[in-house]
Amino acid sequence: MNNKALKITEALYALYPDAVCGLHAGGDPYKLFVMAVLSAQCTDERVNAVSAELFKRFPTPLSMAESKEGEIEKYIYTVGLYNSKAKALREACKRITEVYGGEIPSEMEDLLSLRGVGRKVANLLRGDIFGLGGIVADTHCIRISVRLGLCTKKDPVTVERELTPLIPAEKQSGFCHRIVMFGREYCTARNPSCHICPLAEYCDSHSCNN
Ligand code: SF4
Repeated sequence: MNNKALKITEALYALYPDAVCGLHAGGDPYKLFVMAVLSAQCTDERVNAVSAELFKRFPTPLSMAESKEGEIEKYIYTVGLYNSKAKALREACKRITEVYGGEIPSEMEDLLSLRGVGRKVANLLRGDIFGLGGIVADTHCIRISVRLGLCTKKDPVTVERELTPLIPAEKQSGFCHRIVMFGREYCTARNPSCHICPLAEYCDSHSCNN
């Protein structure tokens, strides 16, 4: 880990010692998988709101895999893109049931073979559930990593590739959750609060002209 990344990671930890994932899956791999798929272009709050009833009706990958067209949809229509998300969940759960014995796999390649799962979701699962580390390059992580000067380009592949060697695997999950909280409180997309920012001393962009 380089010195600057270490200091930023420690400063974020001091700011948000109890940082947890905004999706309330209770450490359940299946629930976090489903909720992460639903969270694309949707708020965590909205996903949390629909999840209780969804998991009452579909408590396992098998139950979701065996659902008929239209059954998942009616539980998730408020999360947006619900038709494609329902289709992805049904197909992914079929594969989880048939290929992985009903368990969410932990390897990146296996996760990426599930419909609806990209690197962001796969890294979230690997970090939060399996303790394997993973940089979740979401919009906050991308924006702030570039502003801080930890990453060179605003694209998820670059941010994941450049941040991964800077932060030890066991700290990556916490780092990503904390940077989301930091992005909401201080380093917002349009009006970052540089004048009161606790990371300003490490930041390449504190003039906020980017
Ligand atoms: S100084 Fe400004 S741009 Fe830099 S991290 Fe803080 S809020 Fe973001």
